[in-house]
Amino acid sequence: MSPNRVIGVDLGGTKILAGVIEDGRVLQTVEHPTPTTSQDALFDGLAAAVRDLSLDGVGAVGFGIPSRFDYRTGHALGAVNIPLREVDFIAEMNRRLDLPIGVENDASCAAYAEHAHGAGRGTSYFGTLTLGTGVGGGIIFAGKLLHAWTELGHMVIVADGVPCQGACAGRGHLEAYCSGTAASRIAQEVIGAHATAHDLIEQHHPALETIGHHLGVGIGSLVNIFGLERMAIGGGFGVAAFEQLLPAARRAVLREVLGDGGRDLQIERALLGEGAGMIGAGLIALEAL
Ligand SMILES: [Zn+2]
Repeated sequence: MSPNRVIGVDLGGTKILAGVIEDGRVLQTVEHPTPTTSQDALFDGLAAAVRDLSLDGVGAVGFGIPSRFDYRTGHALGAVNIPLREVDFIAEMNRRLDLPIGVENDASCAAYAEHAHGAGRGTSYFGTLTLGTGVGGGIIFAGKLLHAWTELGHMVIVADGVPCQGACAGRGHLEAYCSGTAASRIAQEVIGAHATAHDLIEQHHPALETIGHHLGVGIGSLVNIFGLERMAIGGGFGVAAFEQLLPAARRAVLREVLGDGGRDLQIERALLGEGAGMIGAGLIALEAL
């Protein structure tokens, strides 16, 4: 038995990934499909995934959810692809599990994990941007995870720019220029109707320079606000295109960031891959102990 043994649960649109974690080491994992028929079925499914693991010596459970989480009310504020609507997440899980519960946005969980065990180790001011279907991110501020909305993908980088994705009614958001979905849309414009982000990468297409530029503009604003010393880029598209996005991103950062902050900023590839959200949820569980 260890006082640091916890369970981390990453709730995704299609699957629930849960694991027993001790000092950053993943001891056991289970994967369940995400129930999407009703909110009750979703909470039951989360509890079932936890009960499938060995609870021996486990002190708390942390959840990474694809939703904003309001610390003032304890409410999850709704997600796009799963039945989670304005609900007291902790109360619902307390009804189903006899363990302390922690909860945080999934992208913040991934940033937390990268800071503790991956690309952010050794820093006090660190950020991540995950370029996948959408763009997510998290911030470590003064050595601690910033428990805020941190919808970094919905930062405006072009005033009155292109419409954002999915349920977002905004314009000119980072996500609309730098997500894998945006890259595939751009590929269809510059290569052909069936092209995807993967083709841009394979062809070393100059359109990646424009995407890198937009990414760098966004990173520059984050550095100006949070004084970041390192930024890690993750997500399927972000990791695959990293080397090709970097030069233009770096030039934009040098232009946008005040003083020497742009030159000093380290931009790295995220290291933990798909397990980052689950490992970070485990760190949230530790805070609930
Ligand atoms: Zn948006």
